[in-house]
Amino acid sequence: MTQSISASKRLVVKIGSALLADERKGQVRTRWLGALARDVAQLKARGTQVVLVSSGAVAIGRGLLGLDRPKLRLDEKQAAAAAGQIKLAHAYQAALARHDVSVAQVLVTLEDTEERRRYLNARSTIETLLRLGAMPVINENDTVATNEIRYGDNDRLAARVAAMISADTLALFSTIDGLYTADPGSDPDAQFIPEVRKLTPQIMAMAGDAPPGYSSGGMVTKLEAARVALGAGCRMVIADGRKAHVLRDLDKAARKTWFVPEGSPRAARKHWIEASLKPTGTLTVDDGALKALRGGKSLLPAGVTKVEGRFDRGDAVIVRDRAGREVARGLIAYADAEARLLAGHKSREIQELLGYRGRDEMIHRDDLVVHDGKDT
Ligand code: GLU
Repeated sequence: MTQSISASKRLVVKIGSALLADERKGQVRTRWLGALARDVAQLKARGTQVVLVSSGAVAIGRGLLGLDRPKLRLDEKQAAAAAGQIKLAHAYQAALARHDVSVAQVLVTLEDTEERRRYLNARSTIETLLRLGAMPVINENDTVATNEIRYGDNDRLAARVAAMISADTLALFSTIDGLYTADPGSDPDAQFIPEVRKLTPQIMAMAGDAPPGYSSGGMVTKLEAARVALGAGCRMVIADGRKAHVLRDLDKAARKTWFVPEGSPRAARKHWIEASLKPTGTLTVDDGALKALRGGKSLLPAGVTKVEGRFDRGDAVIVRDRAGREVARGLIAYADAEARLLAGHKSREIQELLGYRGRDEMIHRDDLVVHDGKDT
């Protein structure tokens, strides 16, 4: 089956520095960005949710601050990122405002995607922005990240974001037009590979070494991104983004490599919930709640009759029926103490019981795997 970008429902687009930044002048390439904004607006109008992961802060900031040595110290890089990021954000805002798209800046660190609580917060912020029709523009928070605890490249960051929000497509635009059996720059026999369905050791070995110079990506991080994306059921494409209208023209581009996963993001997530987590708590539910779960609904606090075990928000729990049979597993939206307080209560009482407005659902349907239930 040929892959098409317009079939994406939730798309993460990674923009490499070289496309967007005129490093020497410390400027944003506004014409290129204008074309991207038009493409994004068109996709959004057709119902695709779009999230951008944009590099370029350090490259633009270097020019702005006159830091032109090839190798910068960490504090200089961070200073460059601080100066460049605000310019970058402004450029995105201006370009997308022309299409009435609101842009929202999200700066994340490695811990935000790797540590559970912060992961959940980052995820719900992005989900909320998408629900409100805004377009998140994400970058690493380079000004506070230190060398040891940073991504350093937005390929892997973009893949983490795509997995985190269950995106179905990740597009990596840079100056690399796809995957080759060897480096086409040095090996005349290098063969182009249009589609990858399995990340075999042979494929992983095709990345070669990380590139020299400023660019932090190269094929190594792109294949690592592919591993994360495919594991989350998200297809990924690598394409050269130097010409304007990268998104509009992607489907007709002669060169690009698609990485195609076996299952859907939903299936990957459900599999992950079902198989790879050790539940530390149990909720017992009444018959009404059980029926709702089997019908594909979320689990509300009102239907929970008993809470056992110790768990945190986002942990996996087992759901049992009145007779003690396991009927479902899911990721709970509350820690055990809160879940105990909420059990048996209506969602509208949450604010009064907890002192803050938490989620209406004890376990959201997206975070739930119901055995013998209707899979929605
Ligand atoms: N976060 C870096 C920046 O905005 C880019 C990282 C990368 O090159 O992938 O400059």
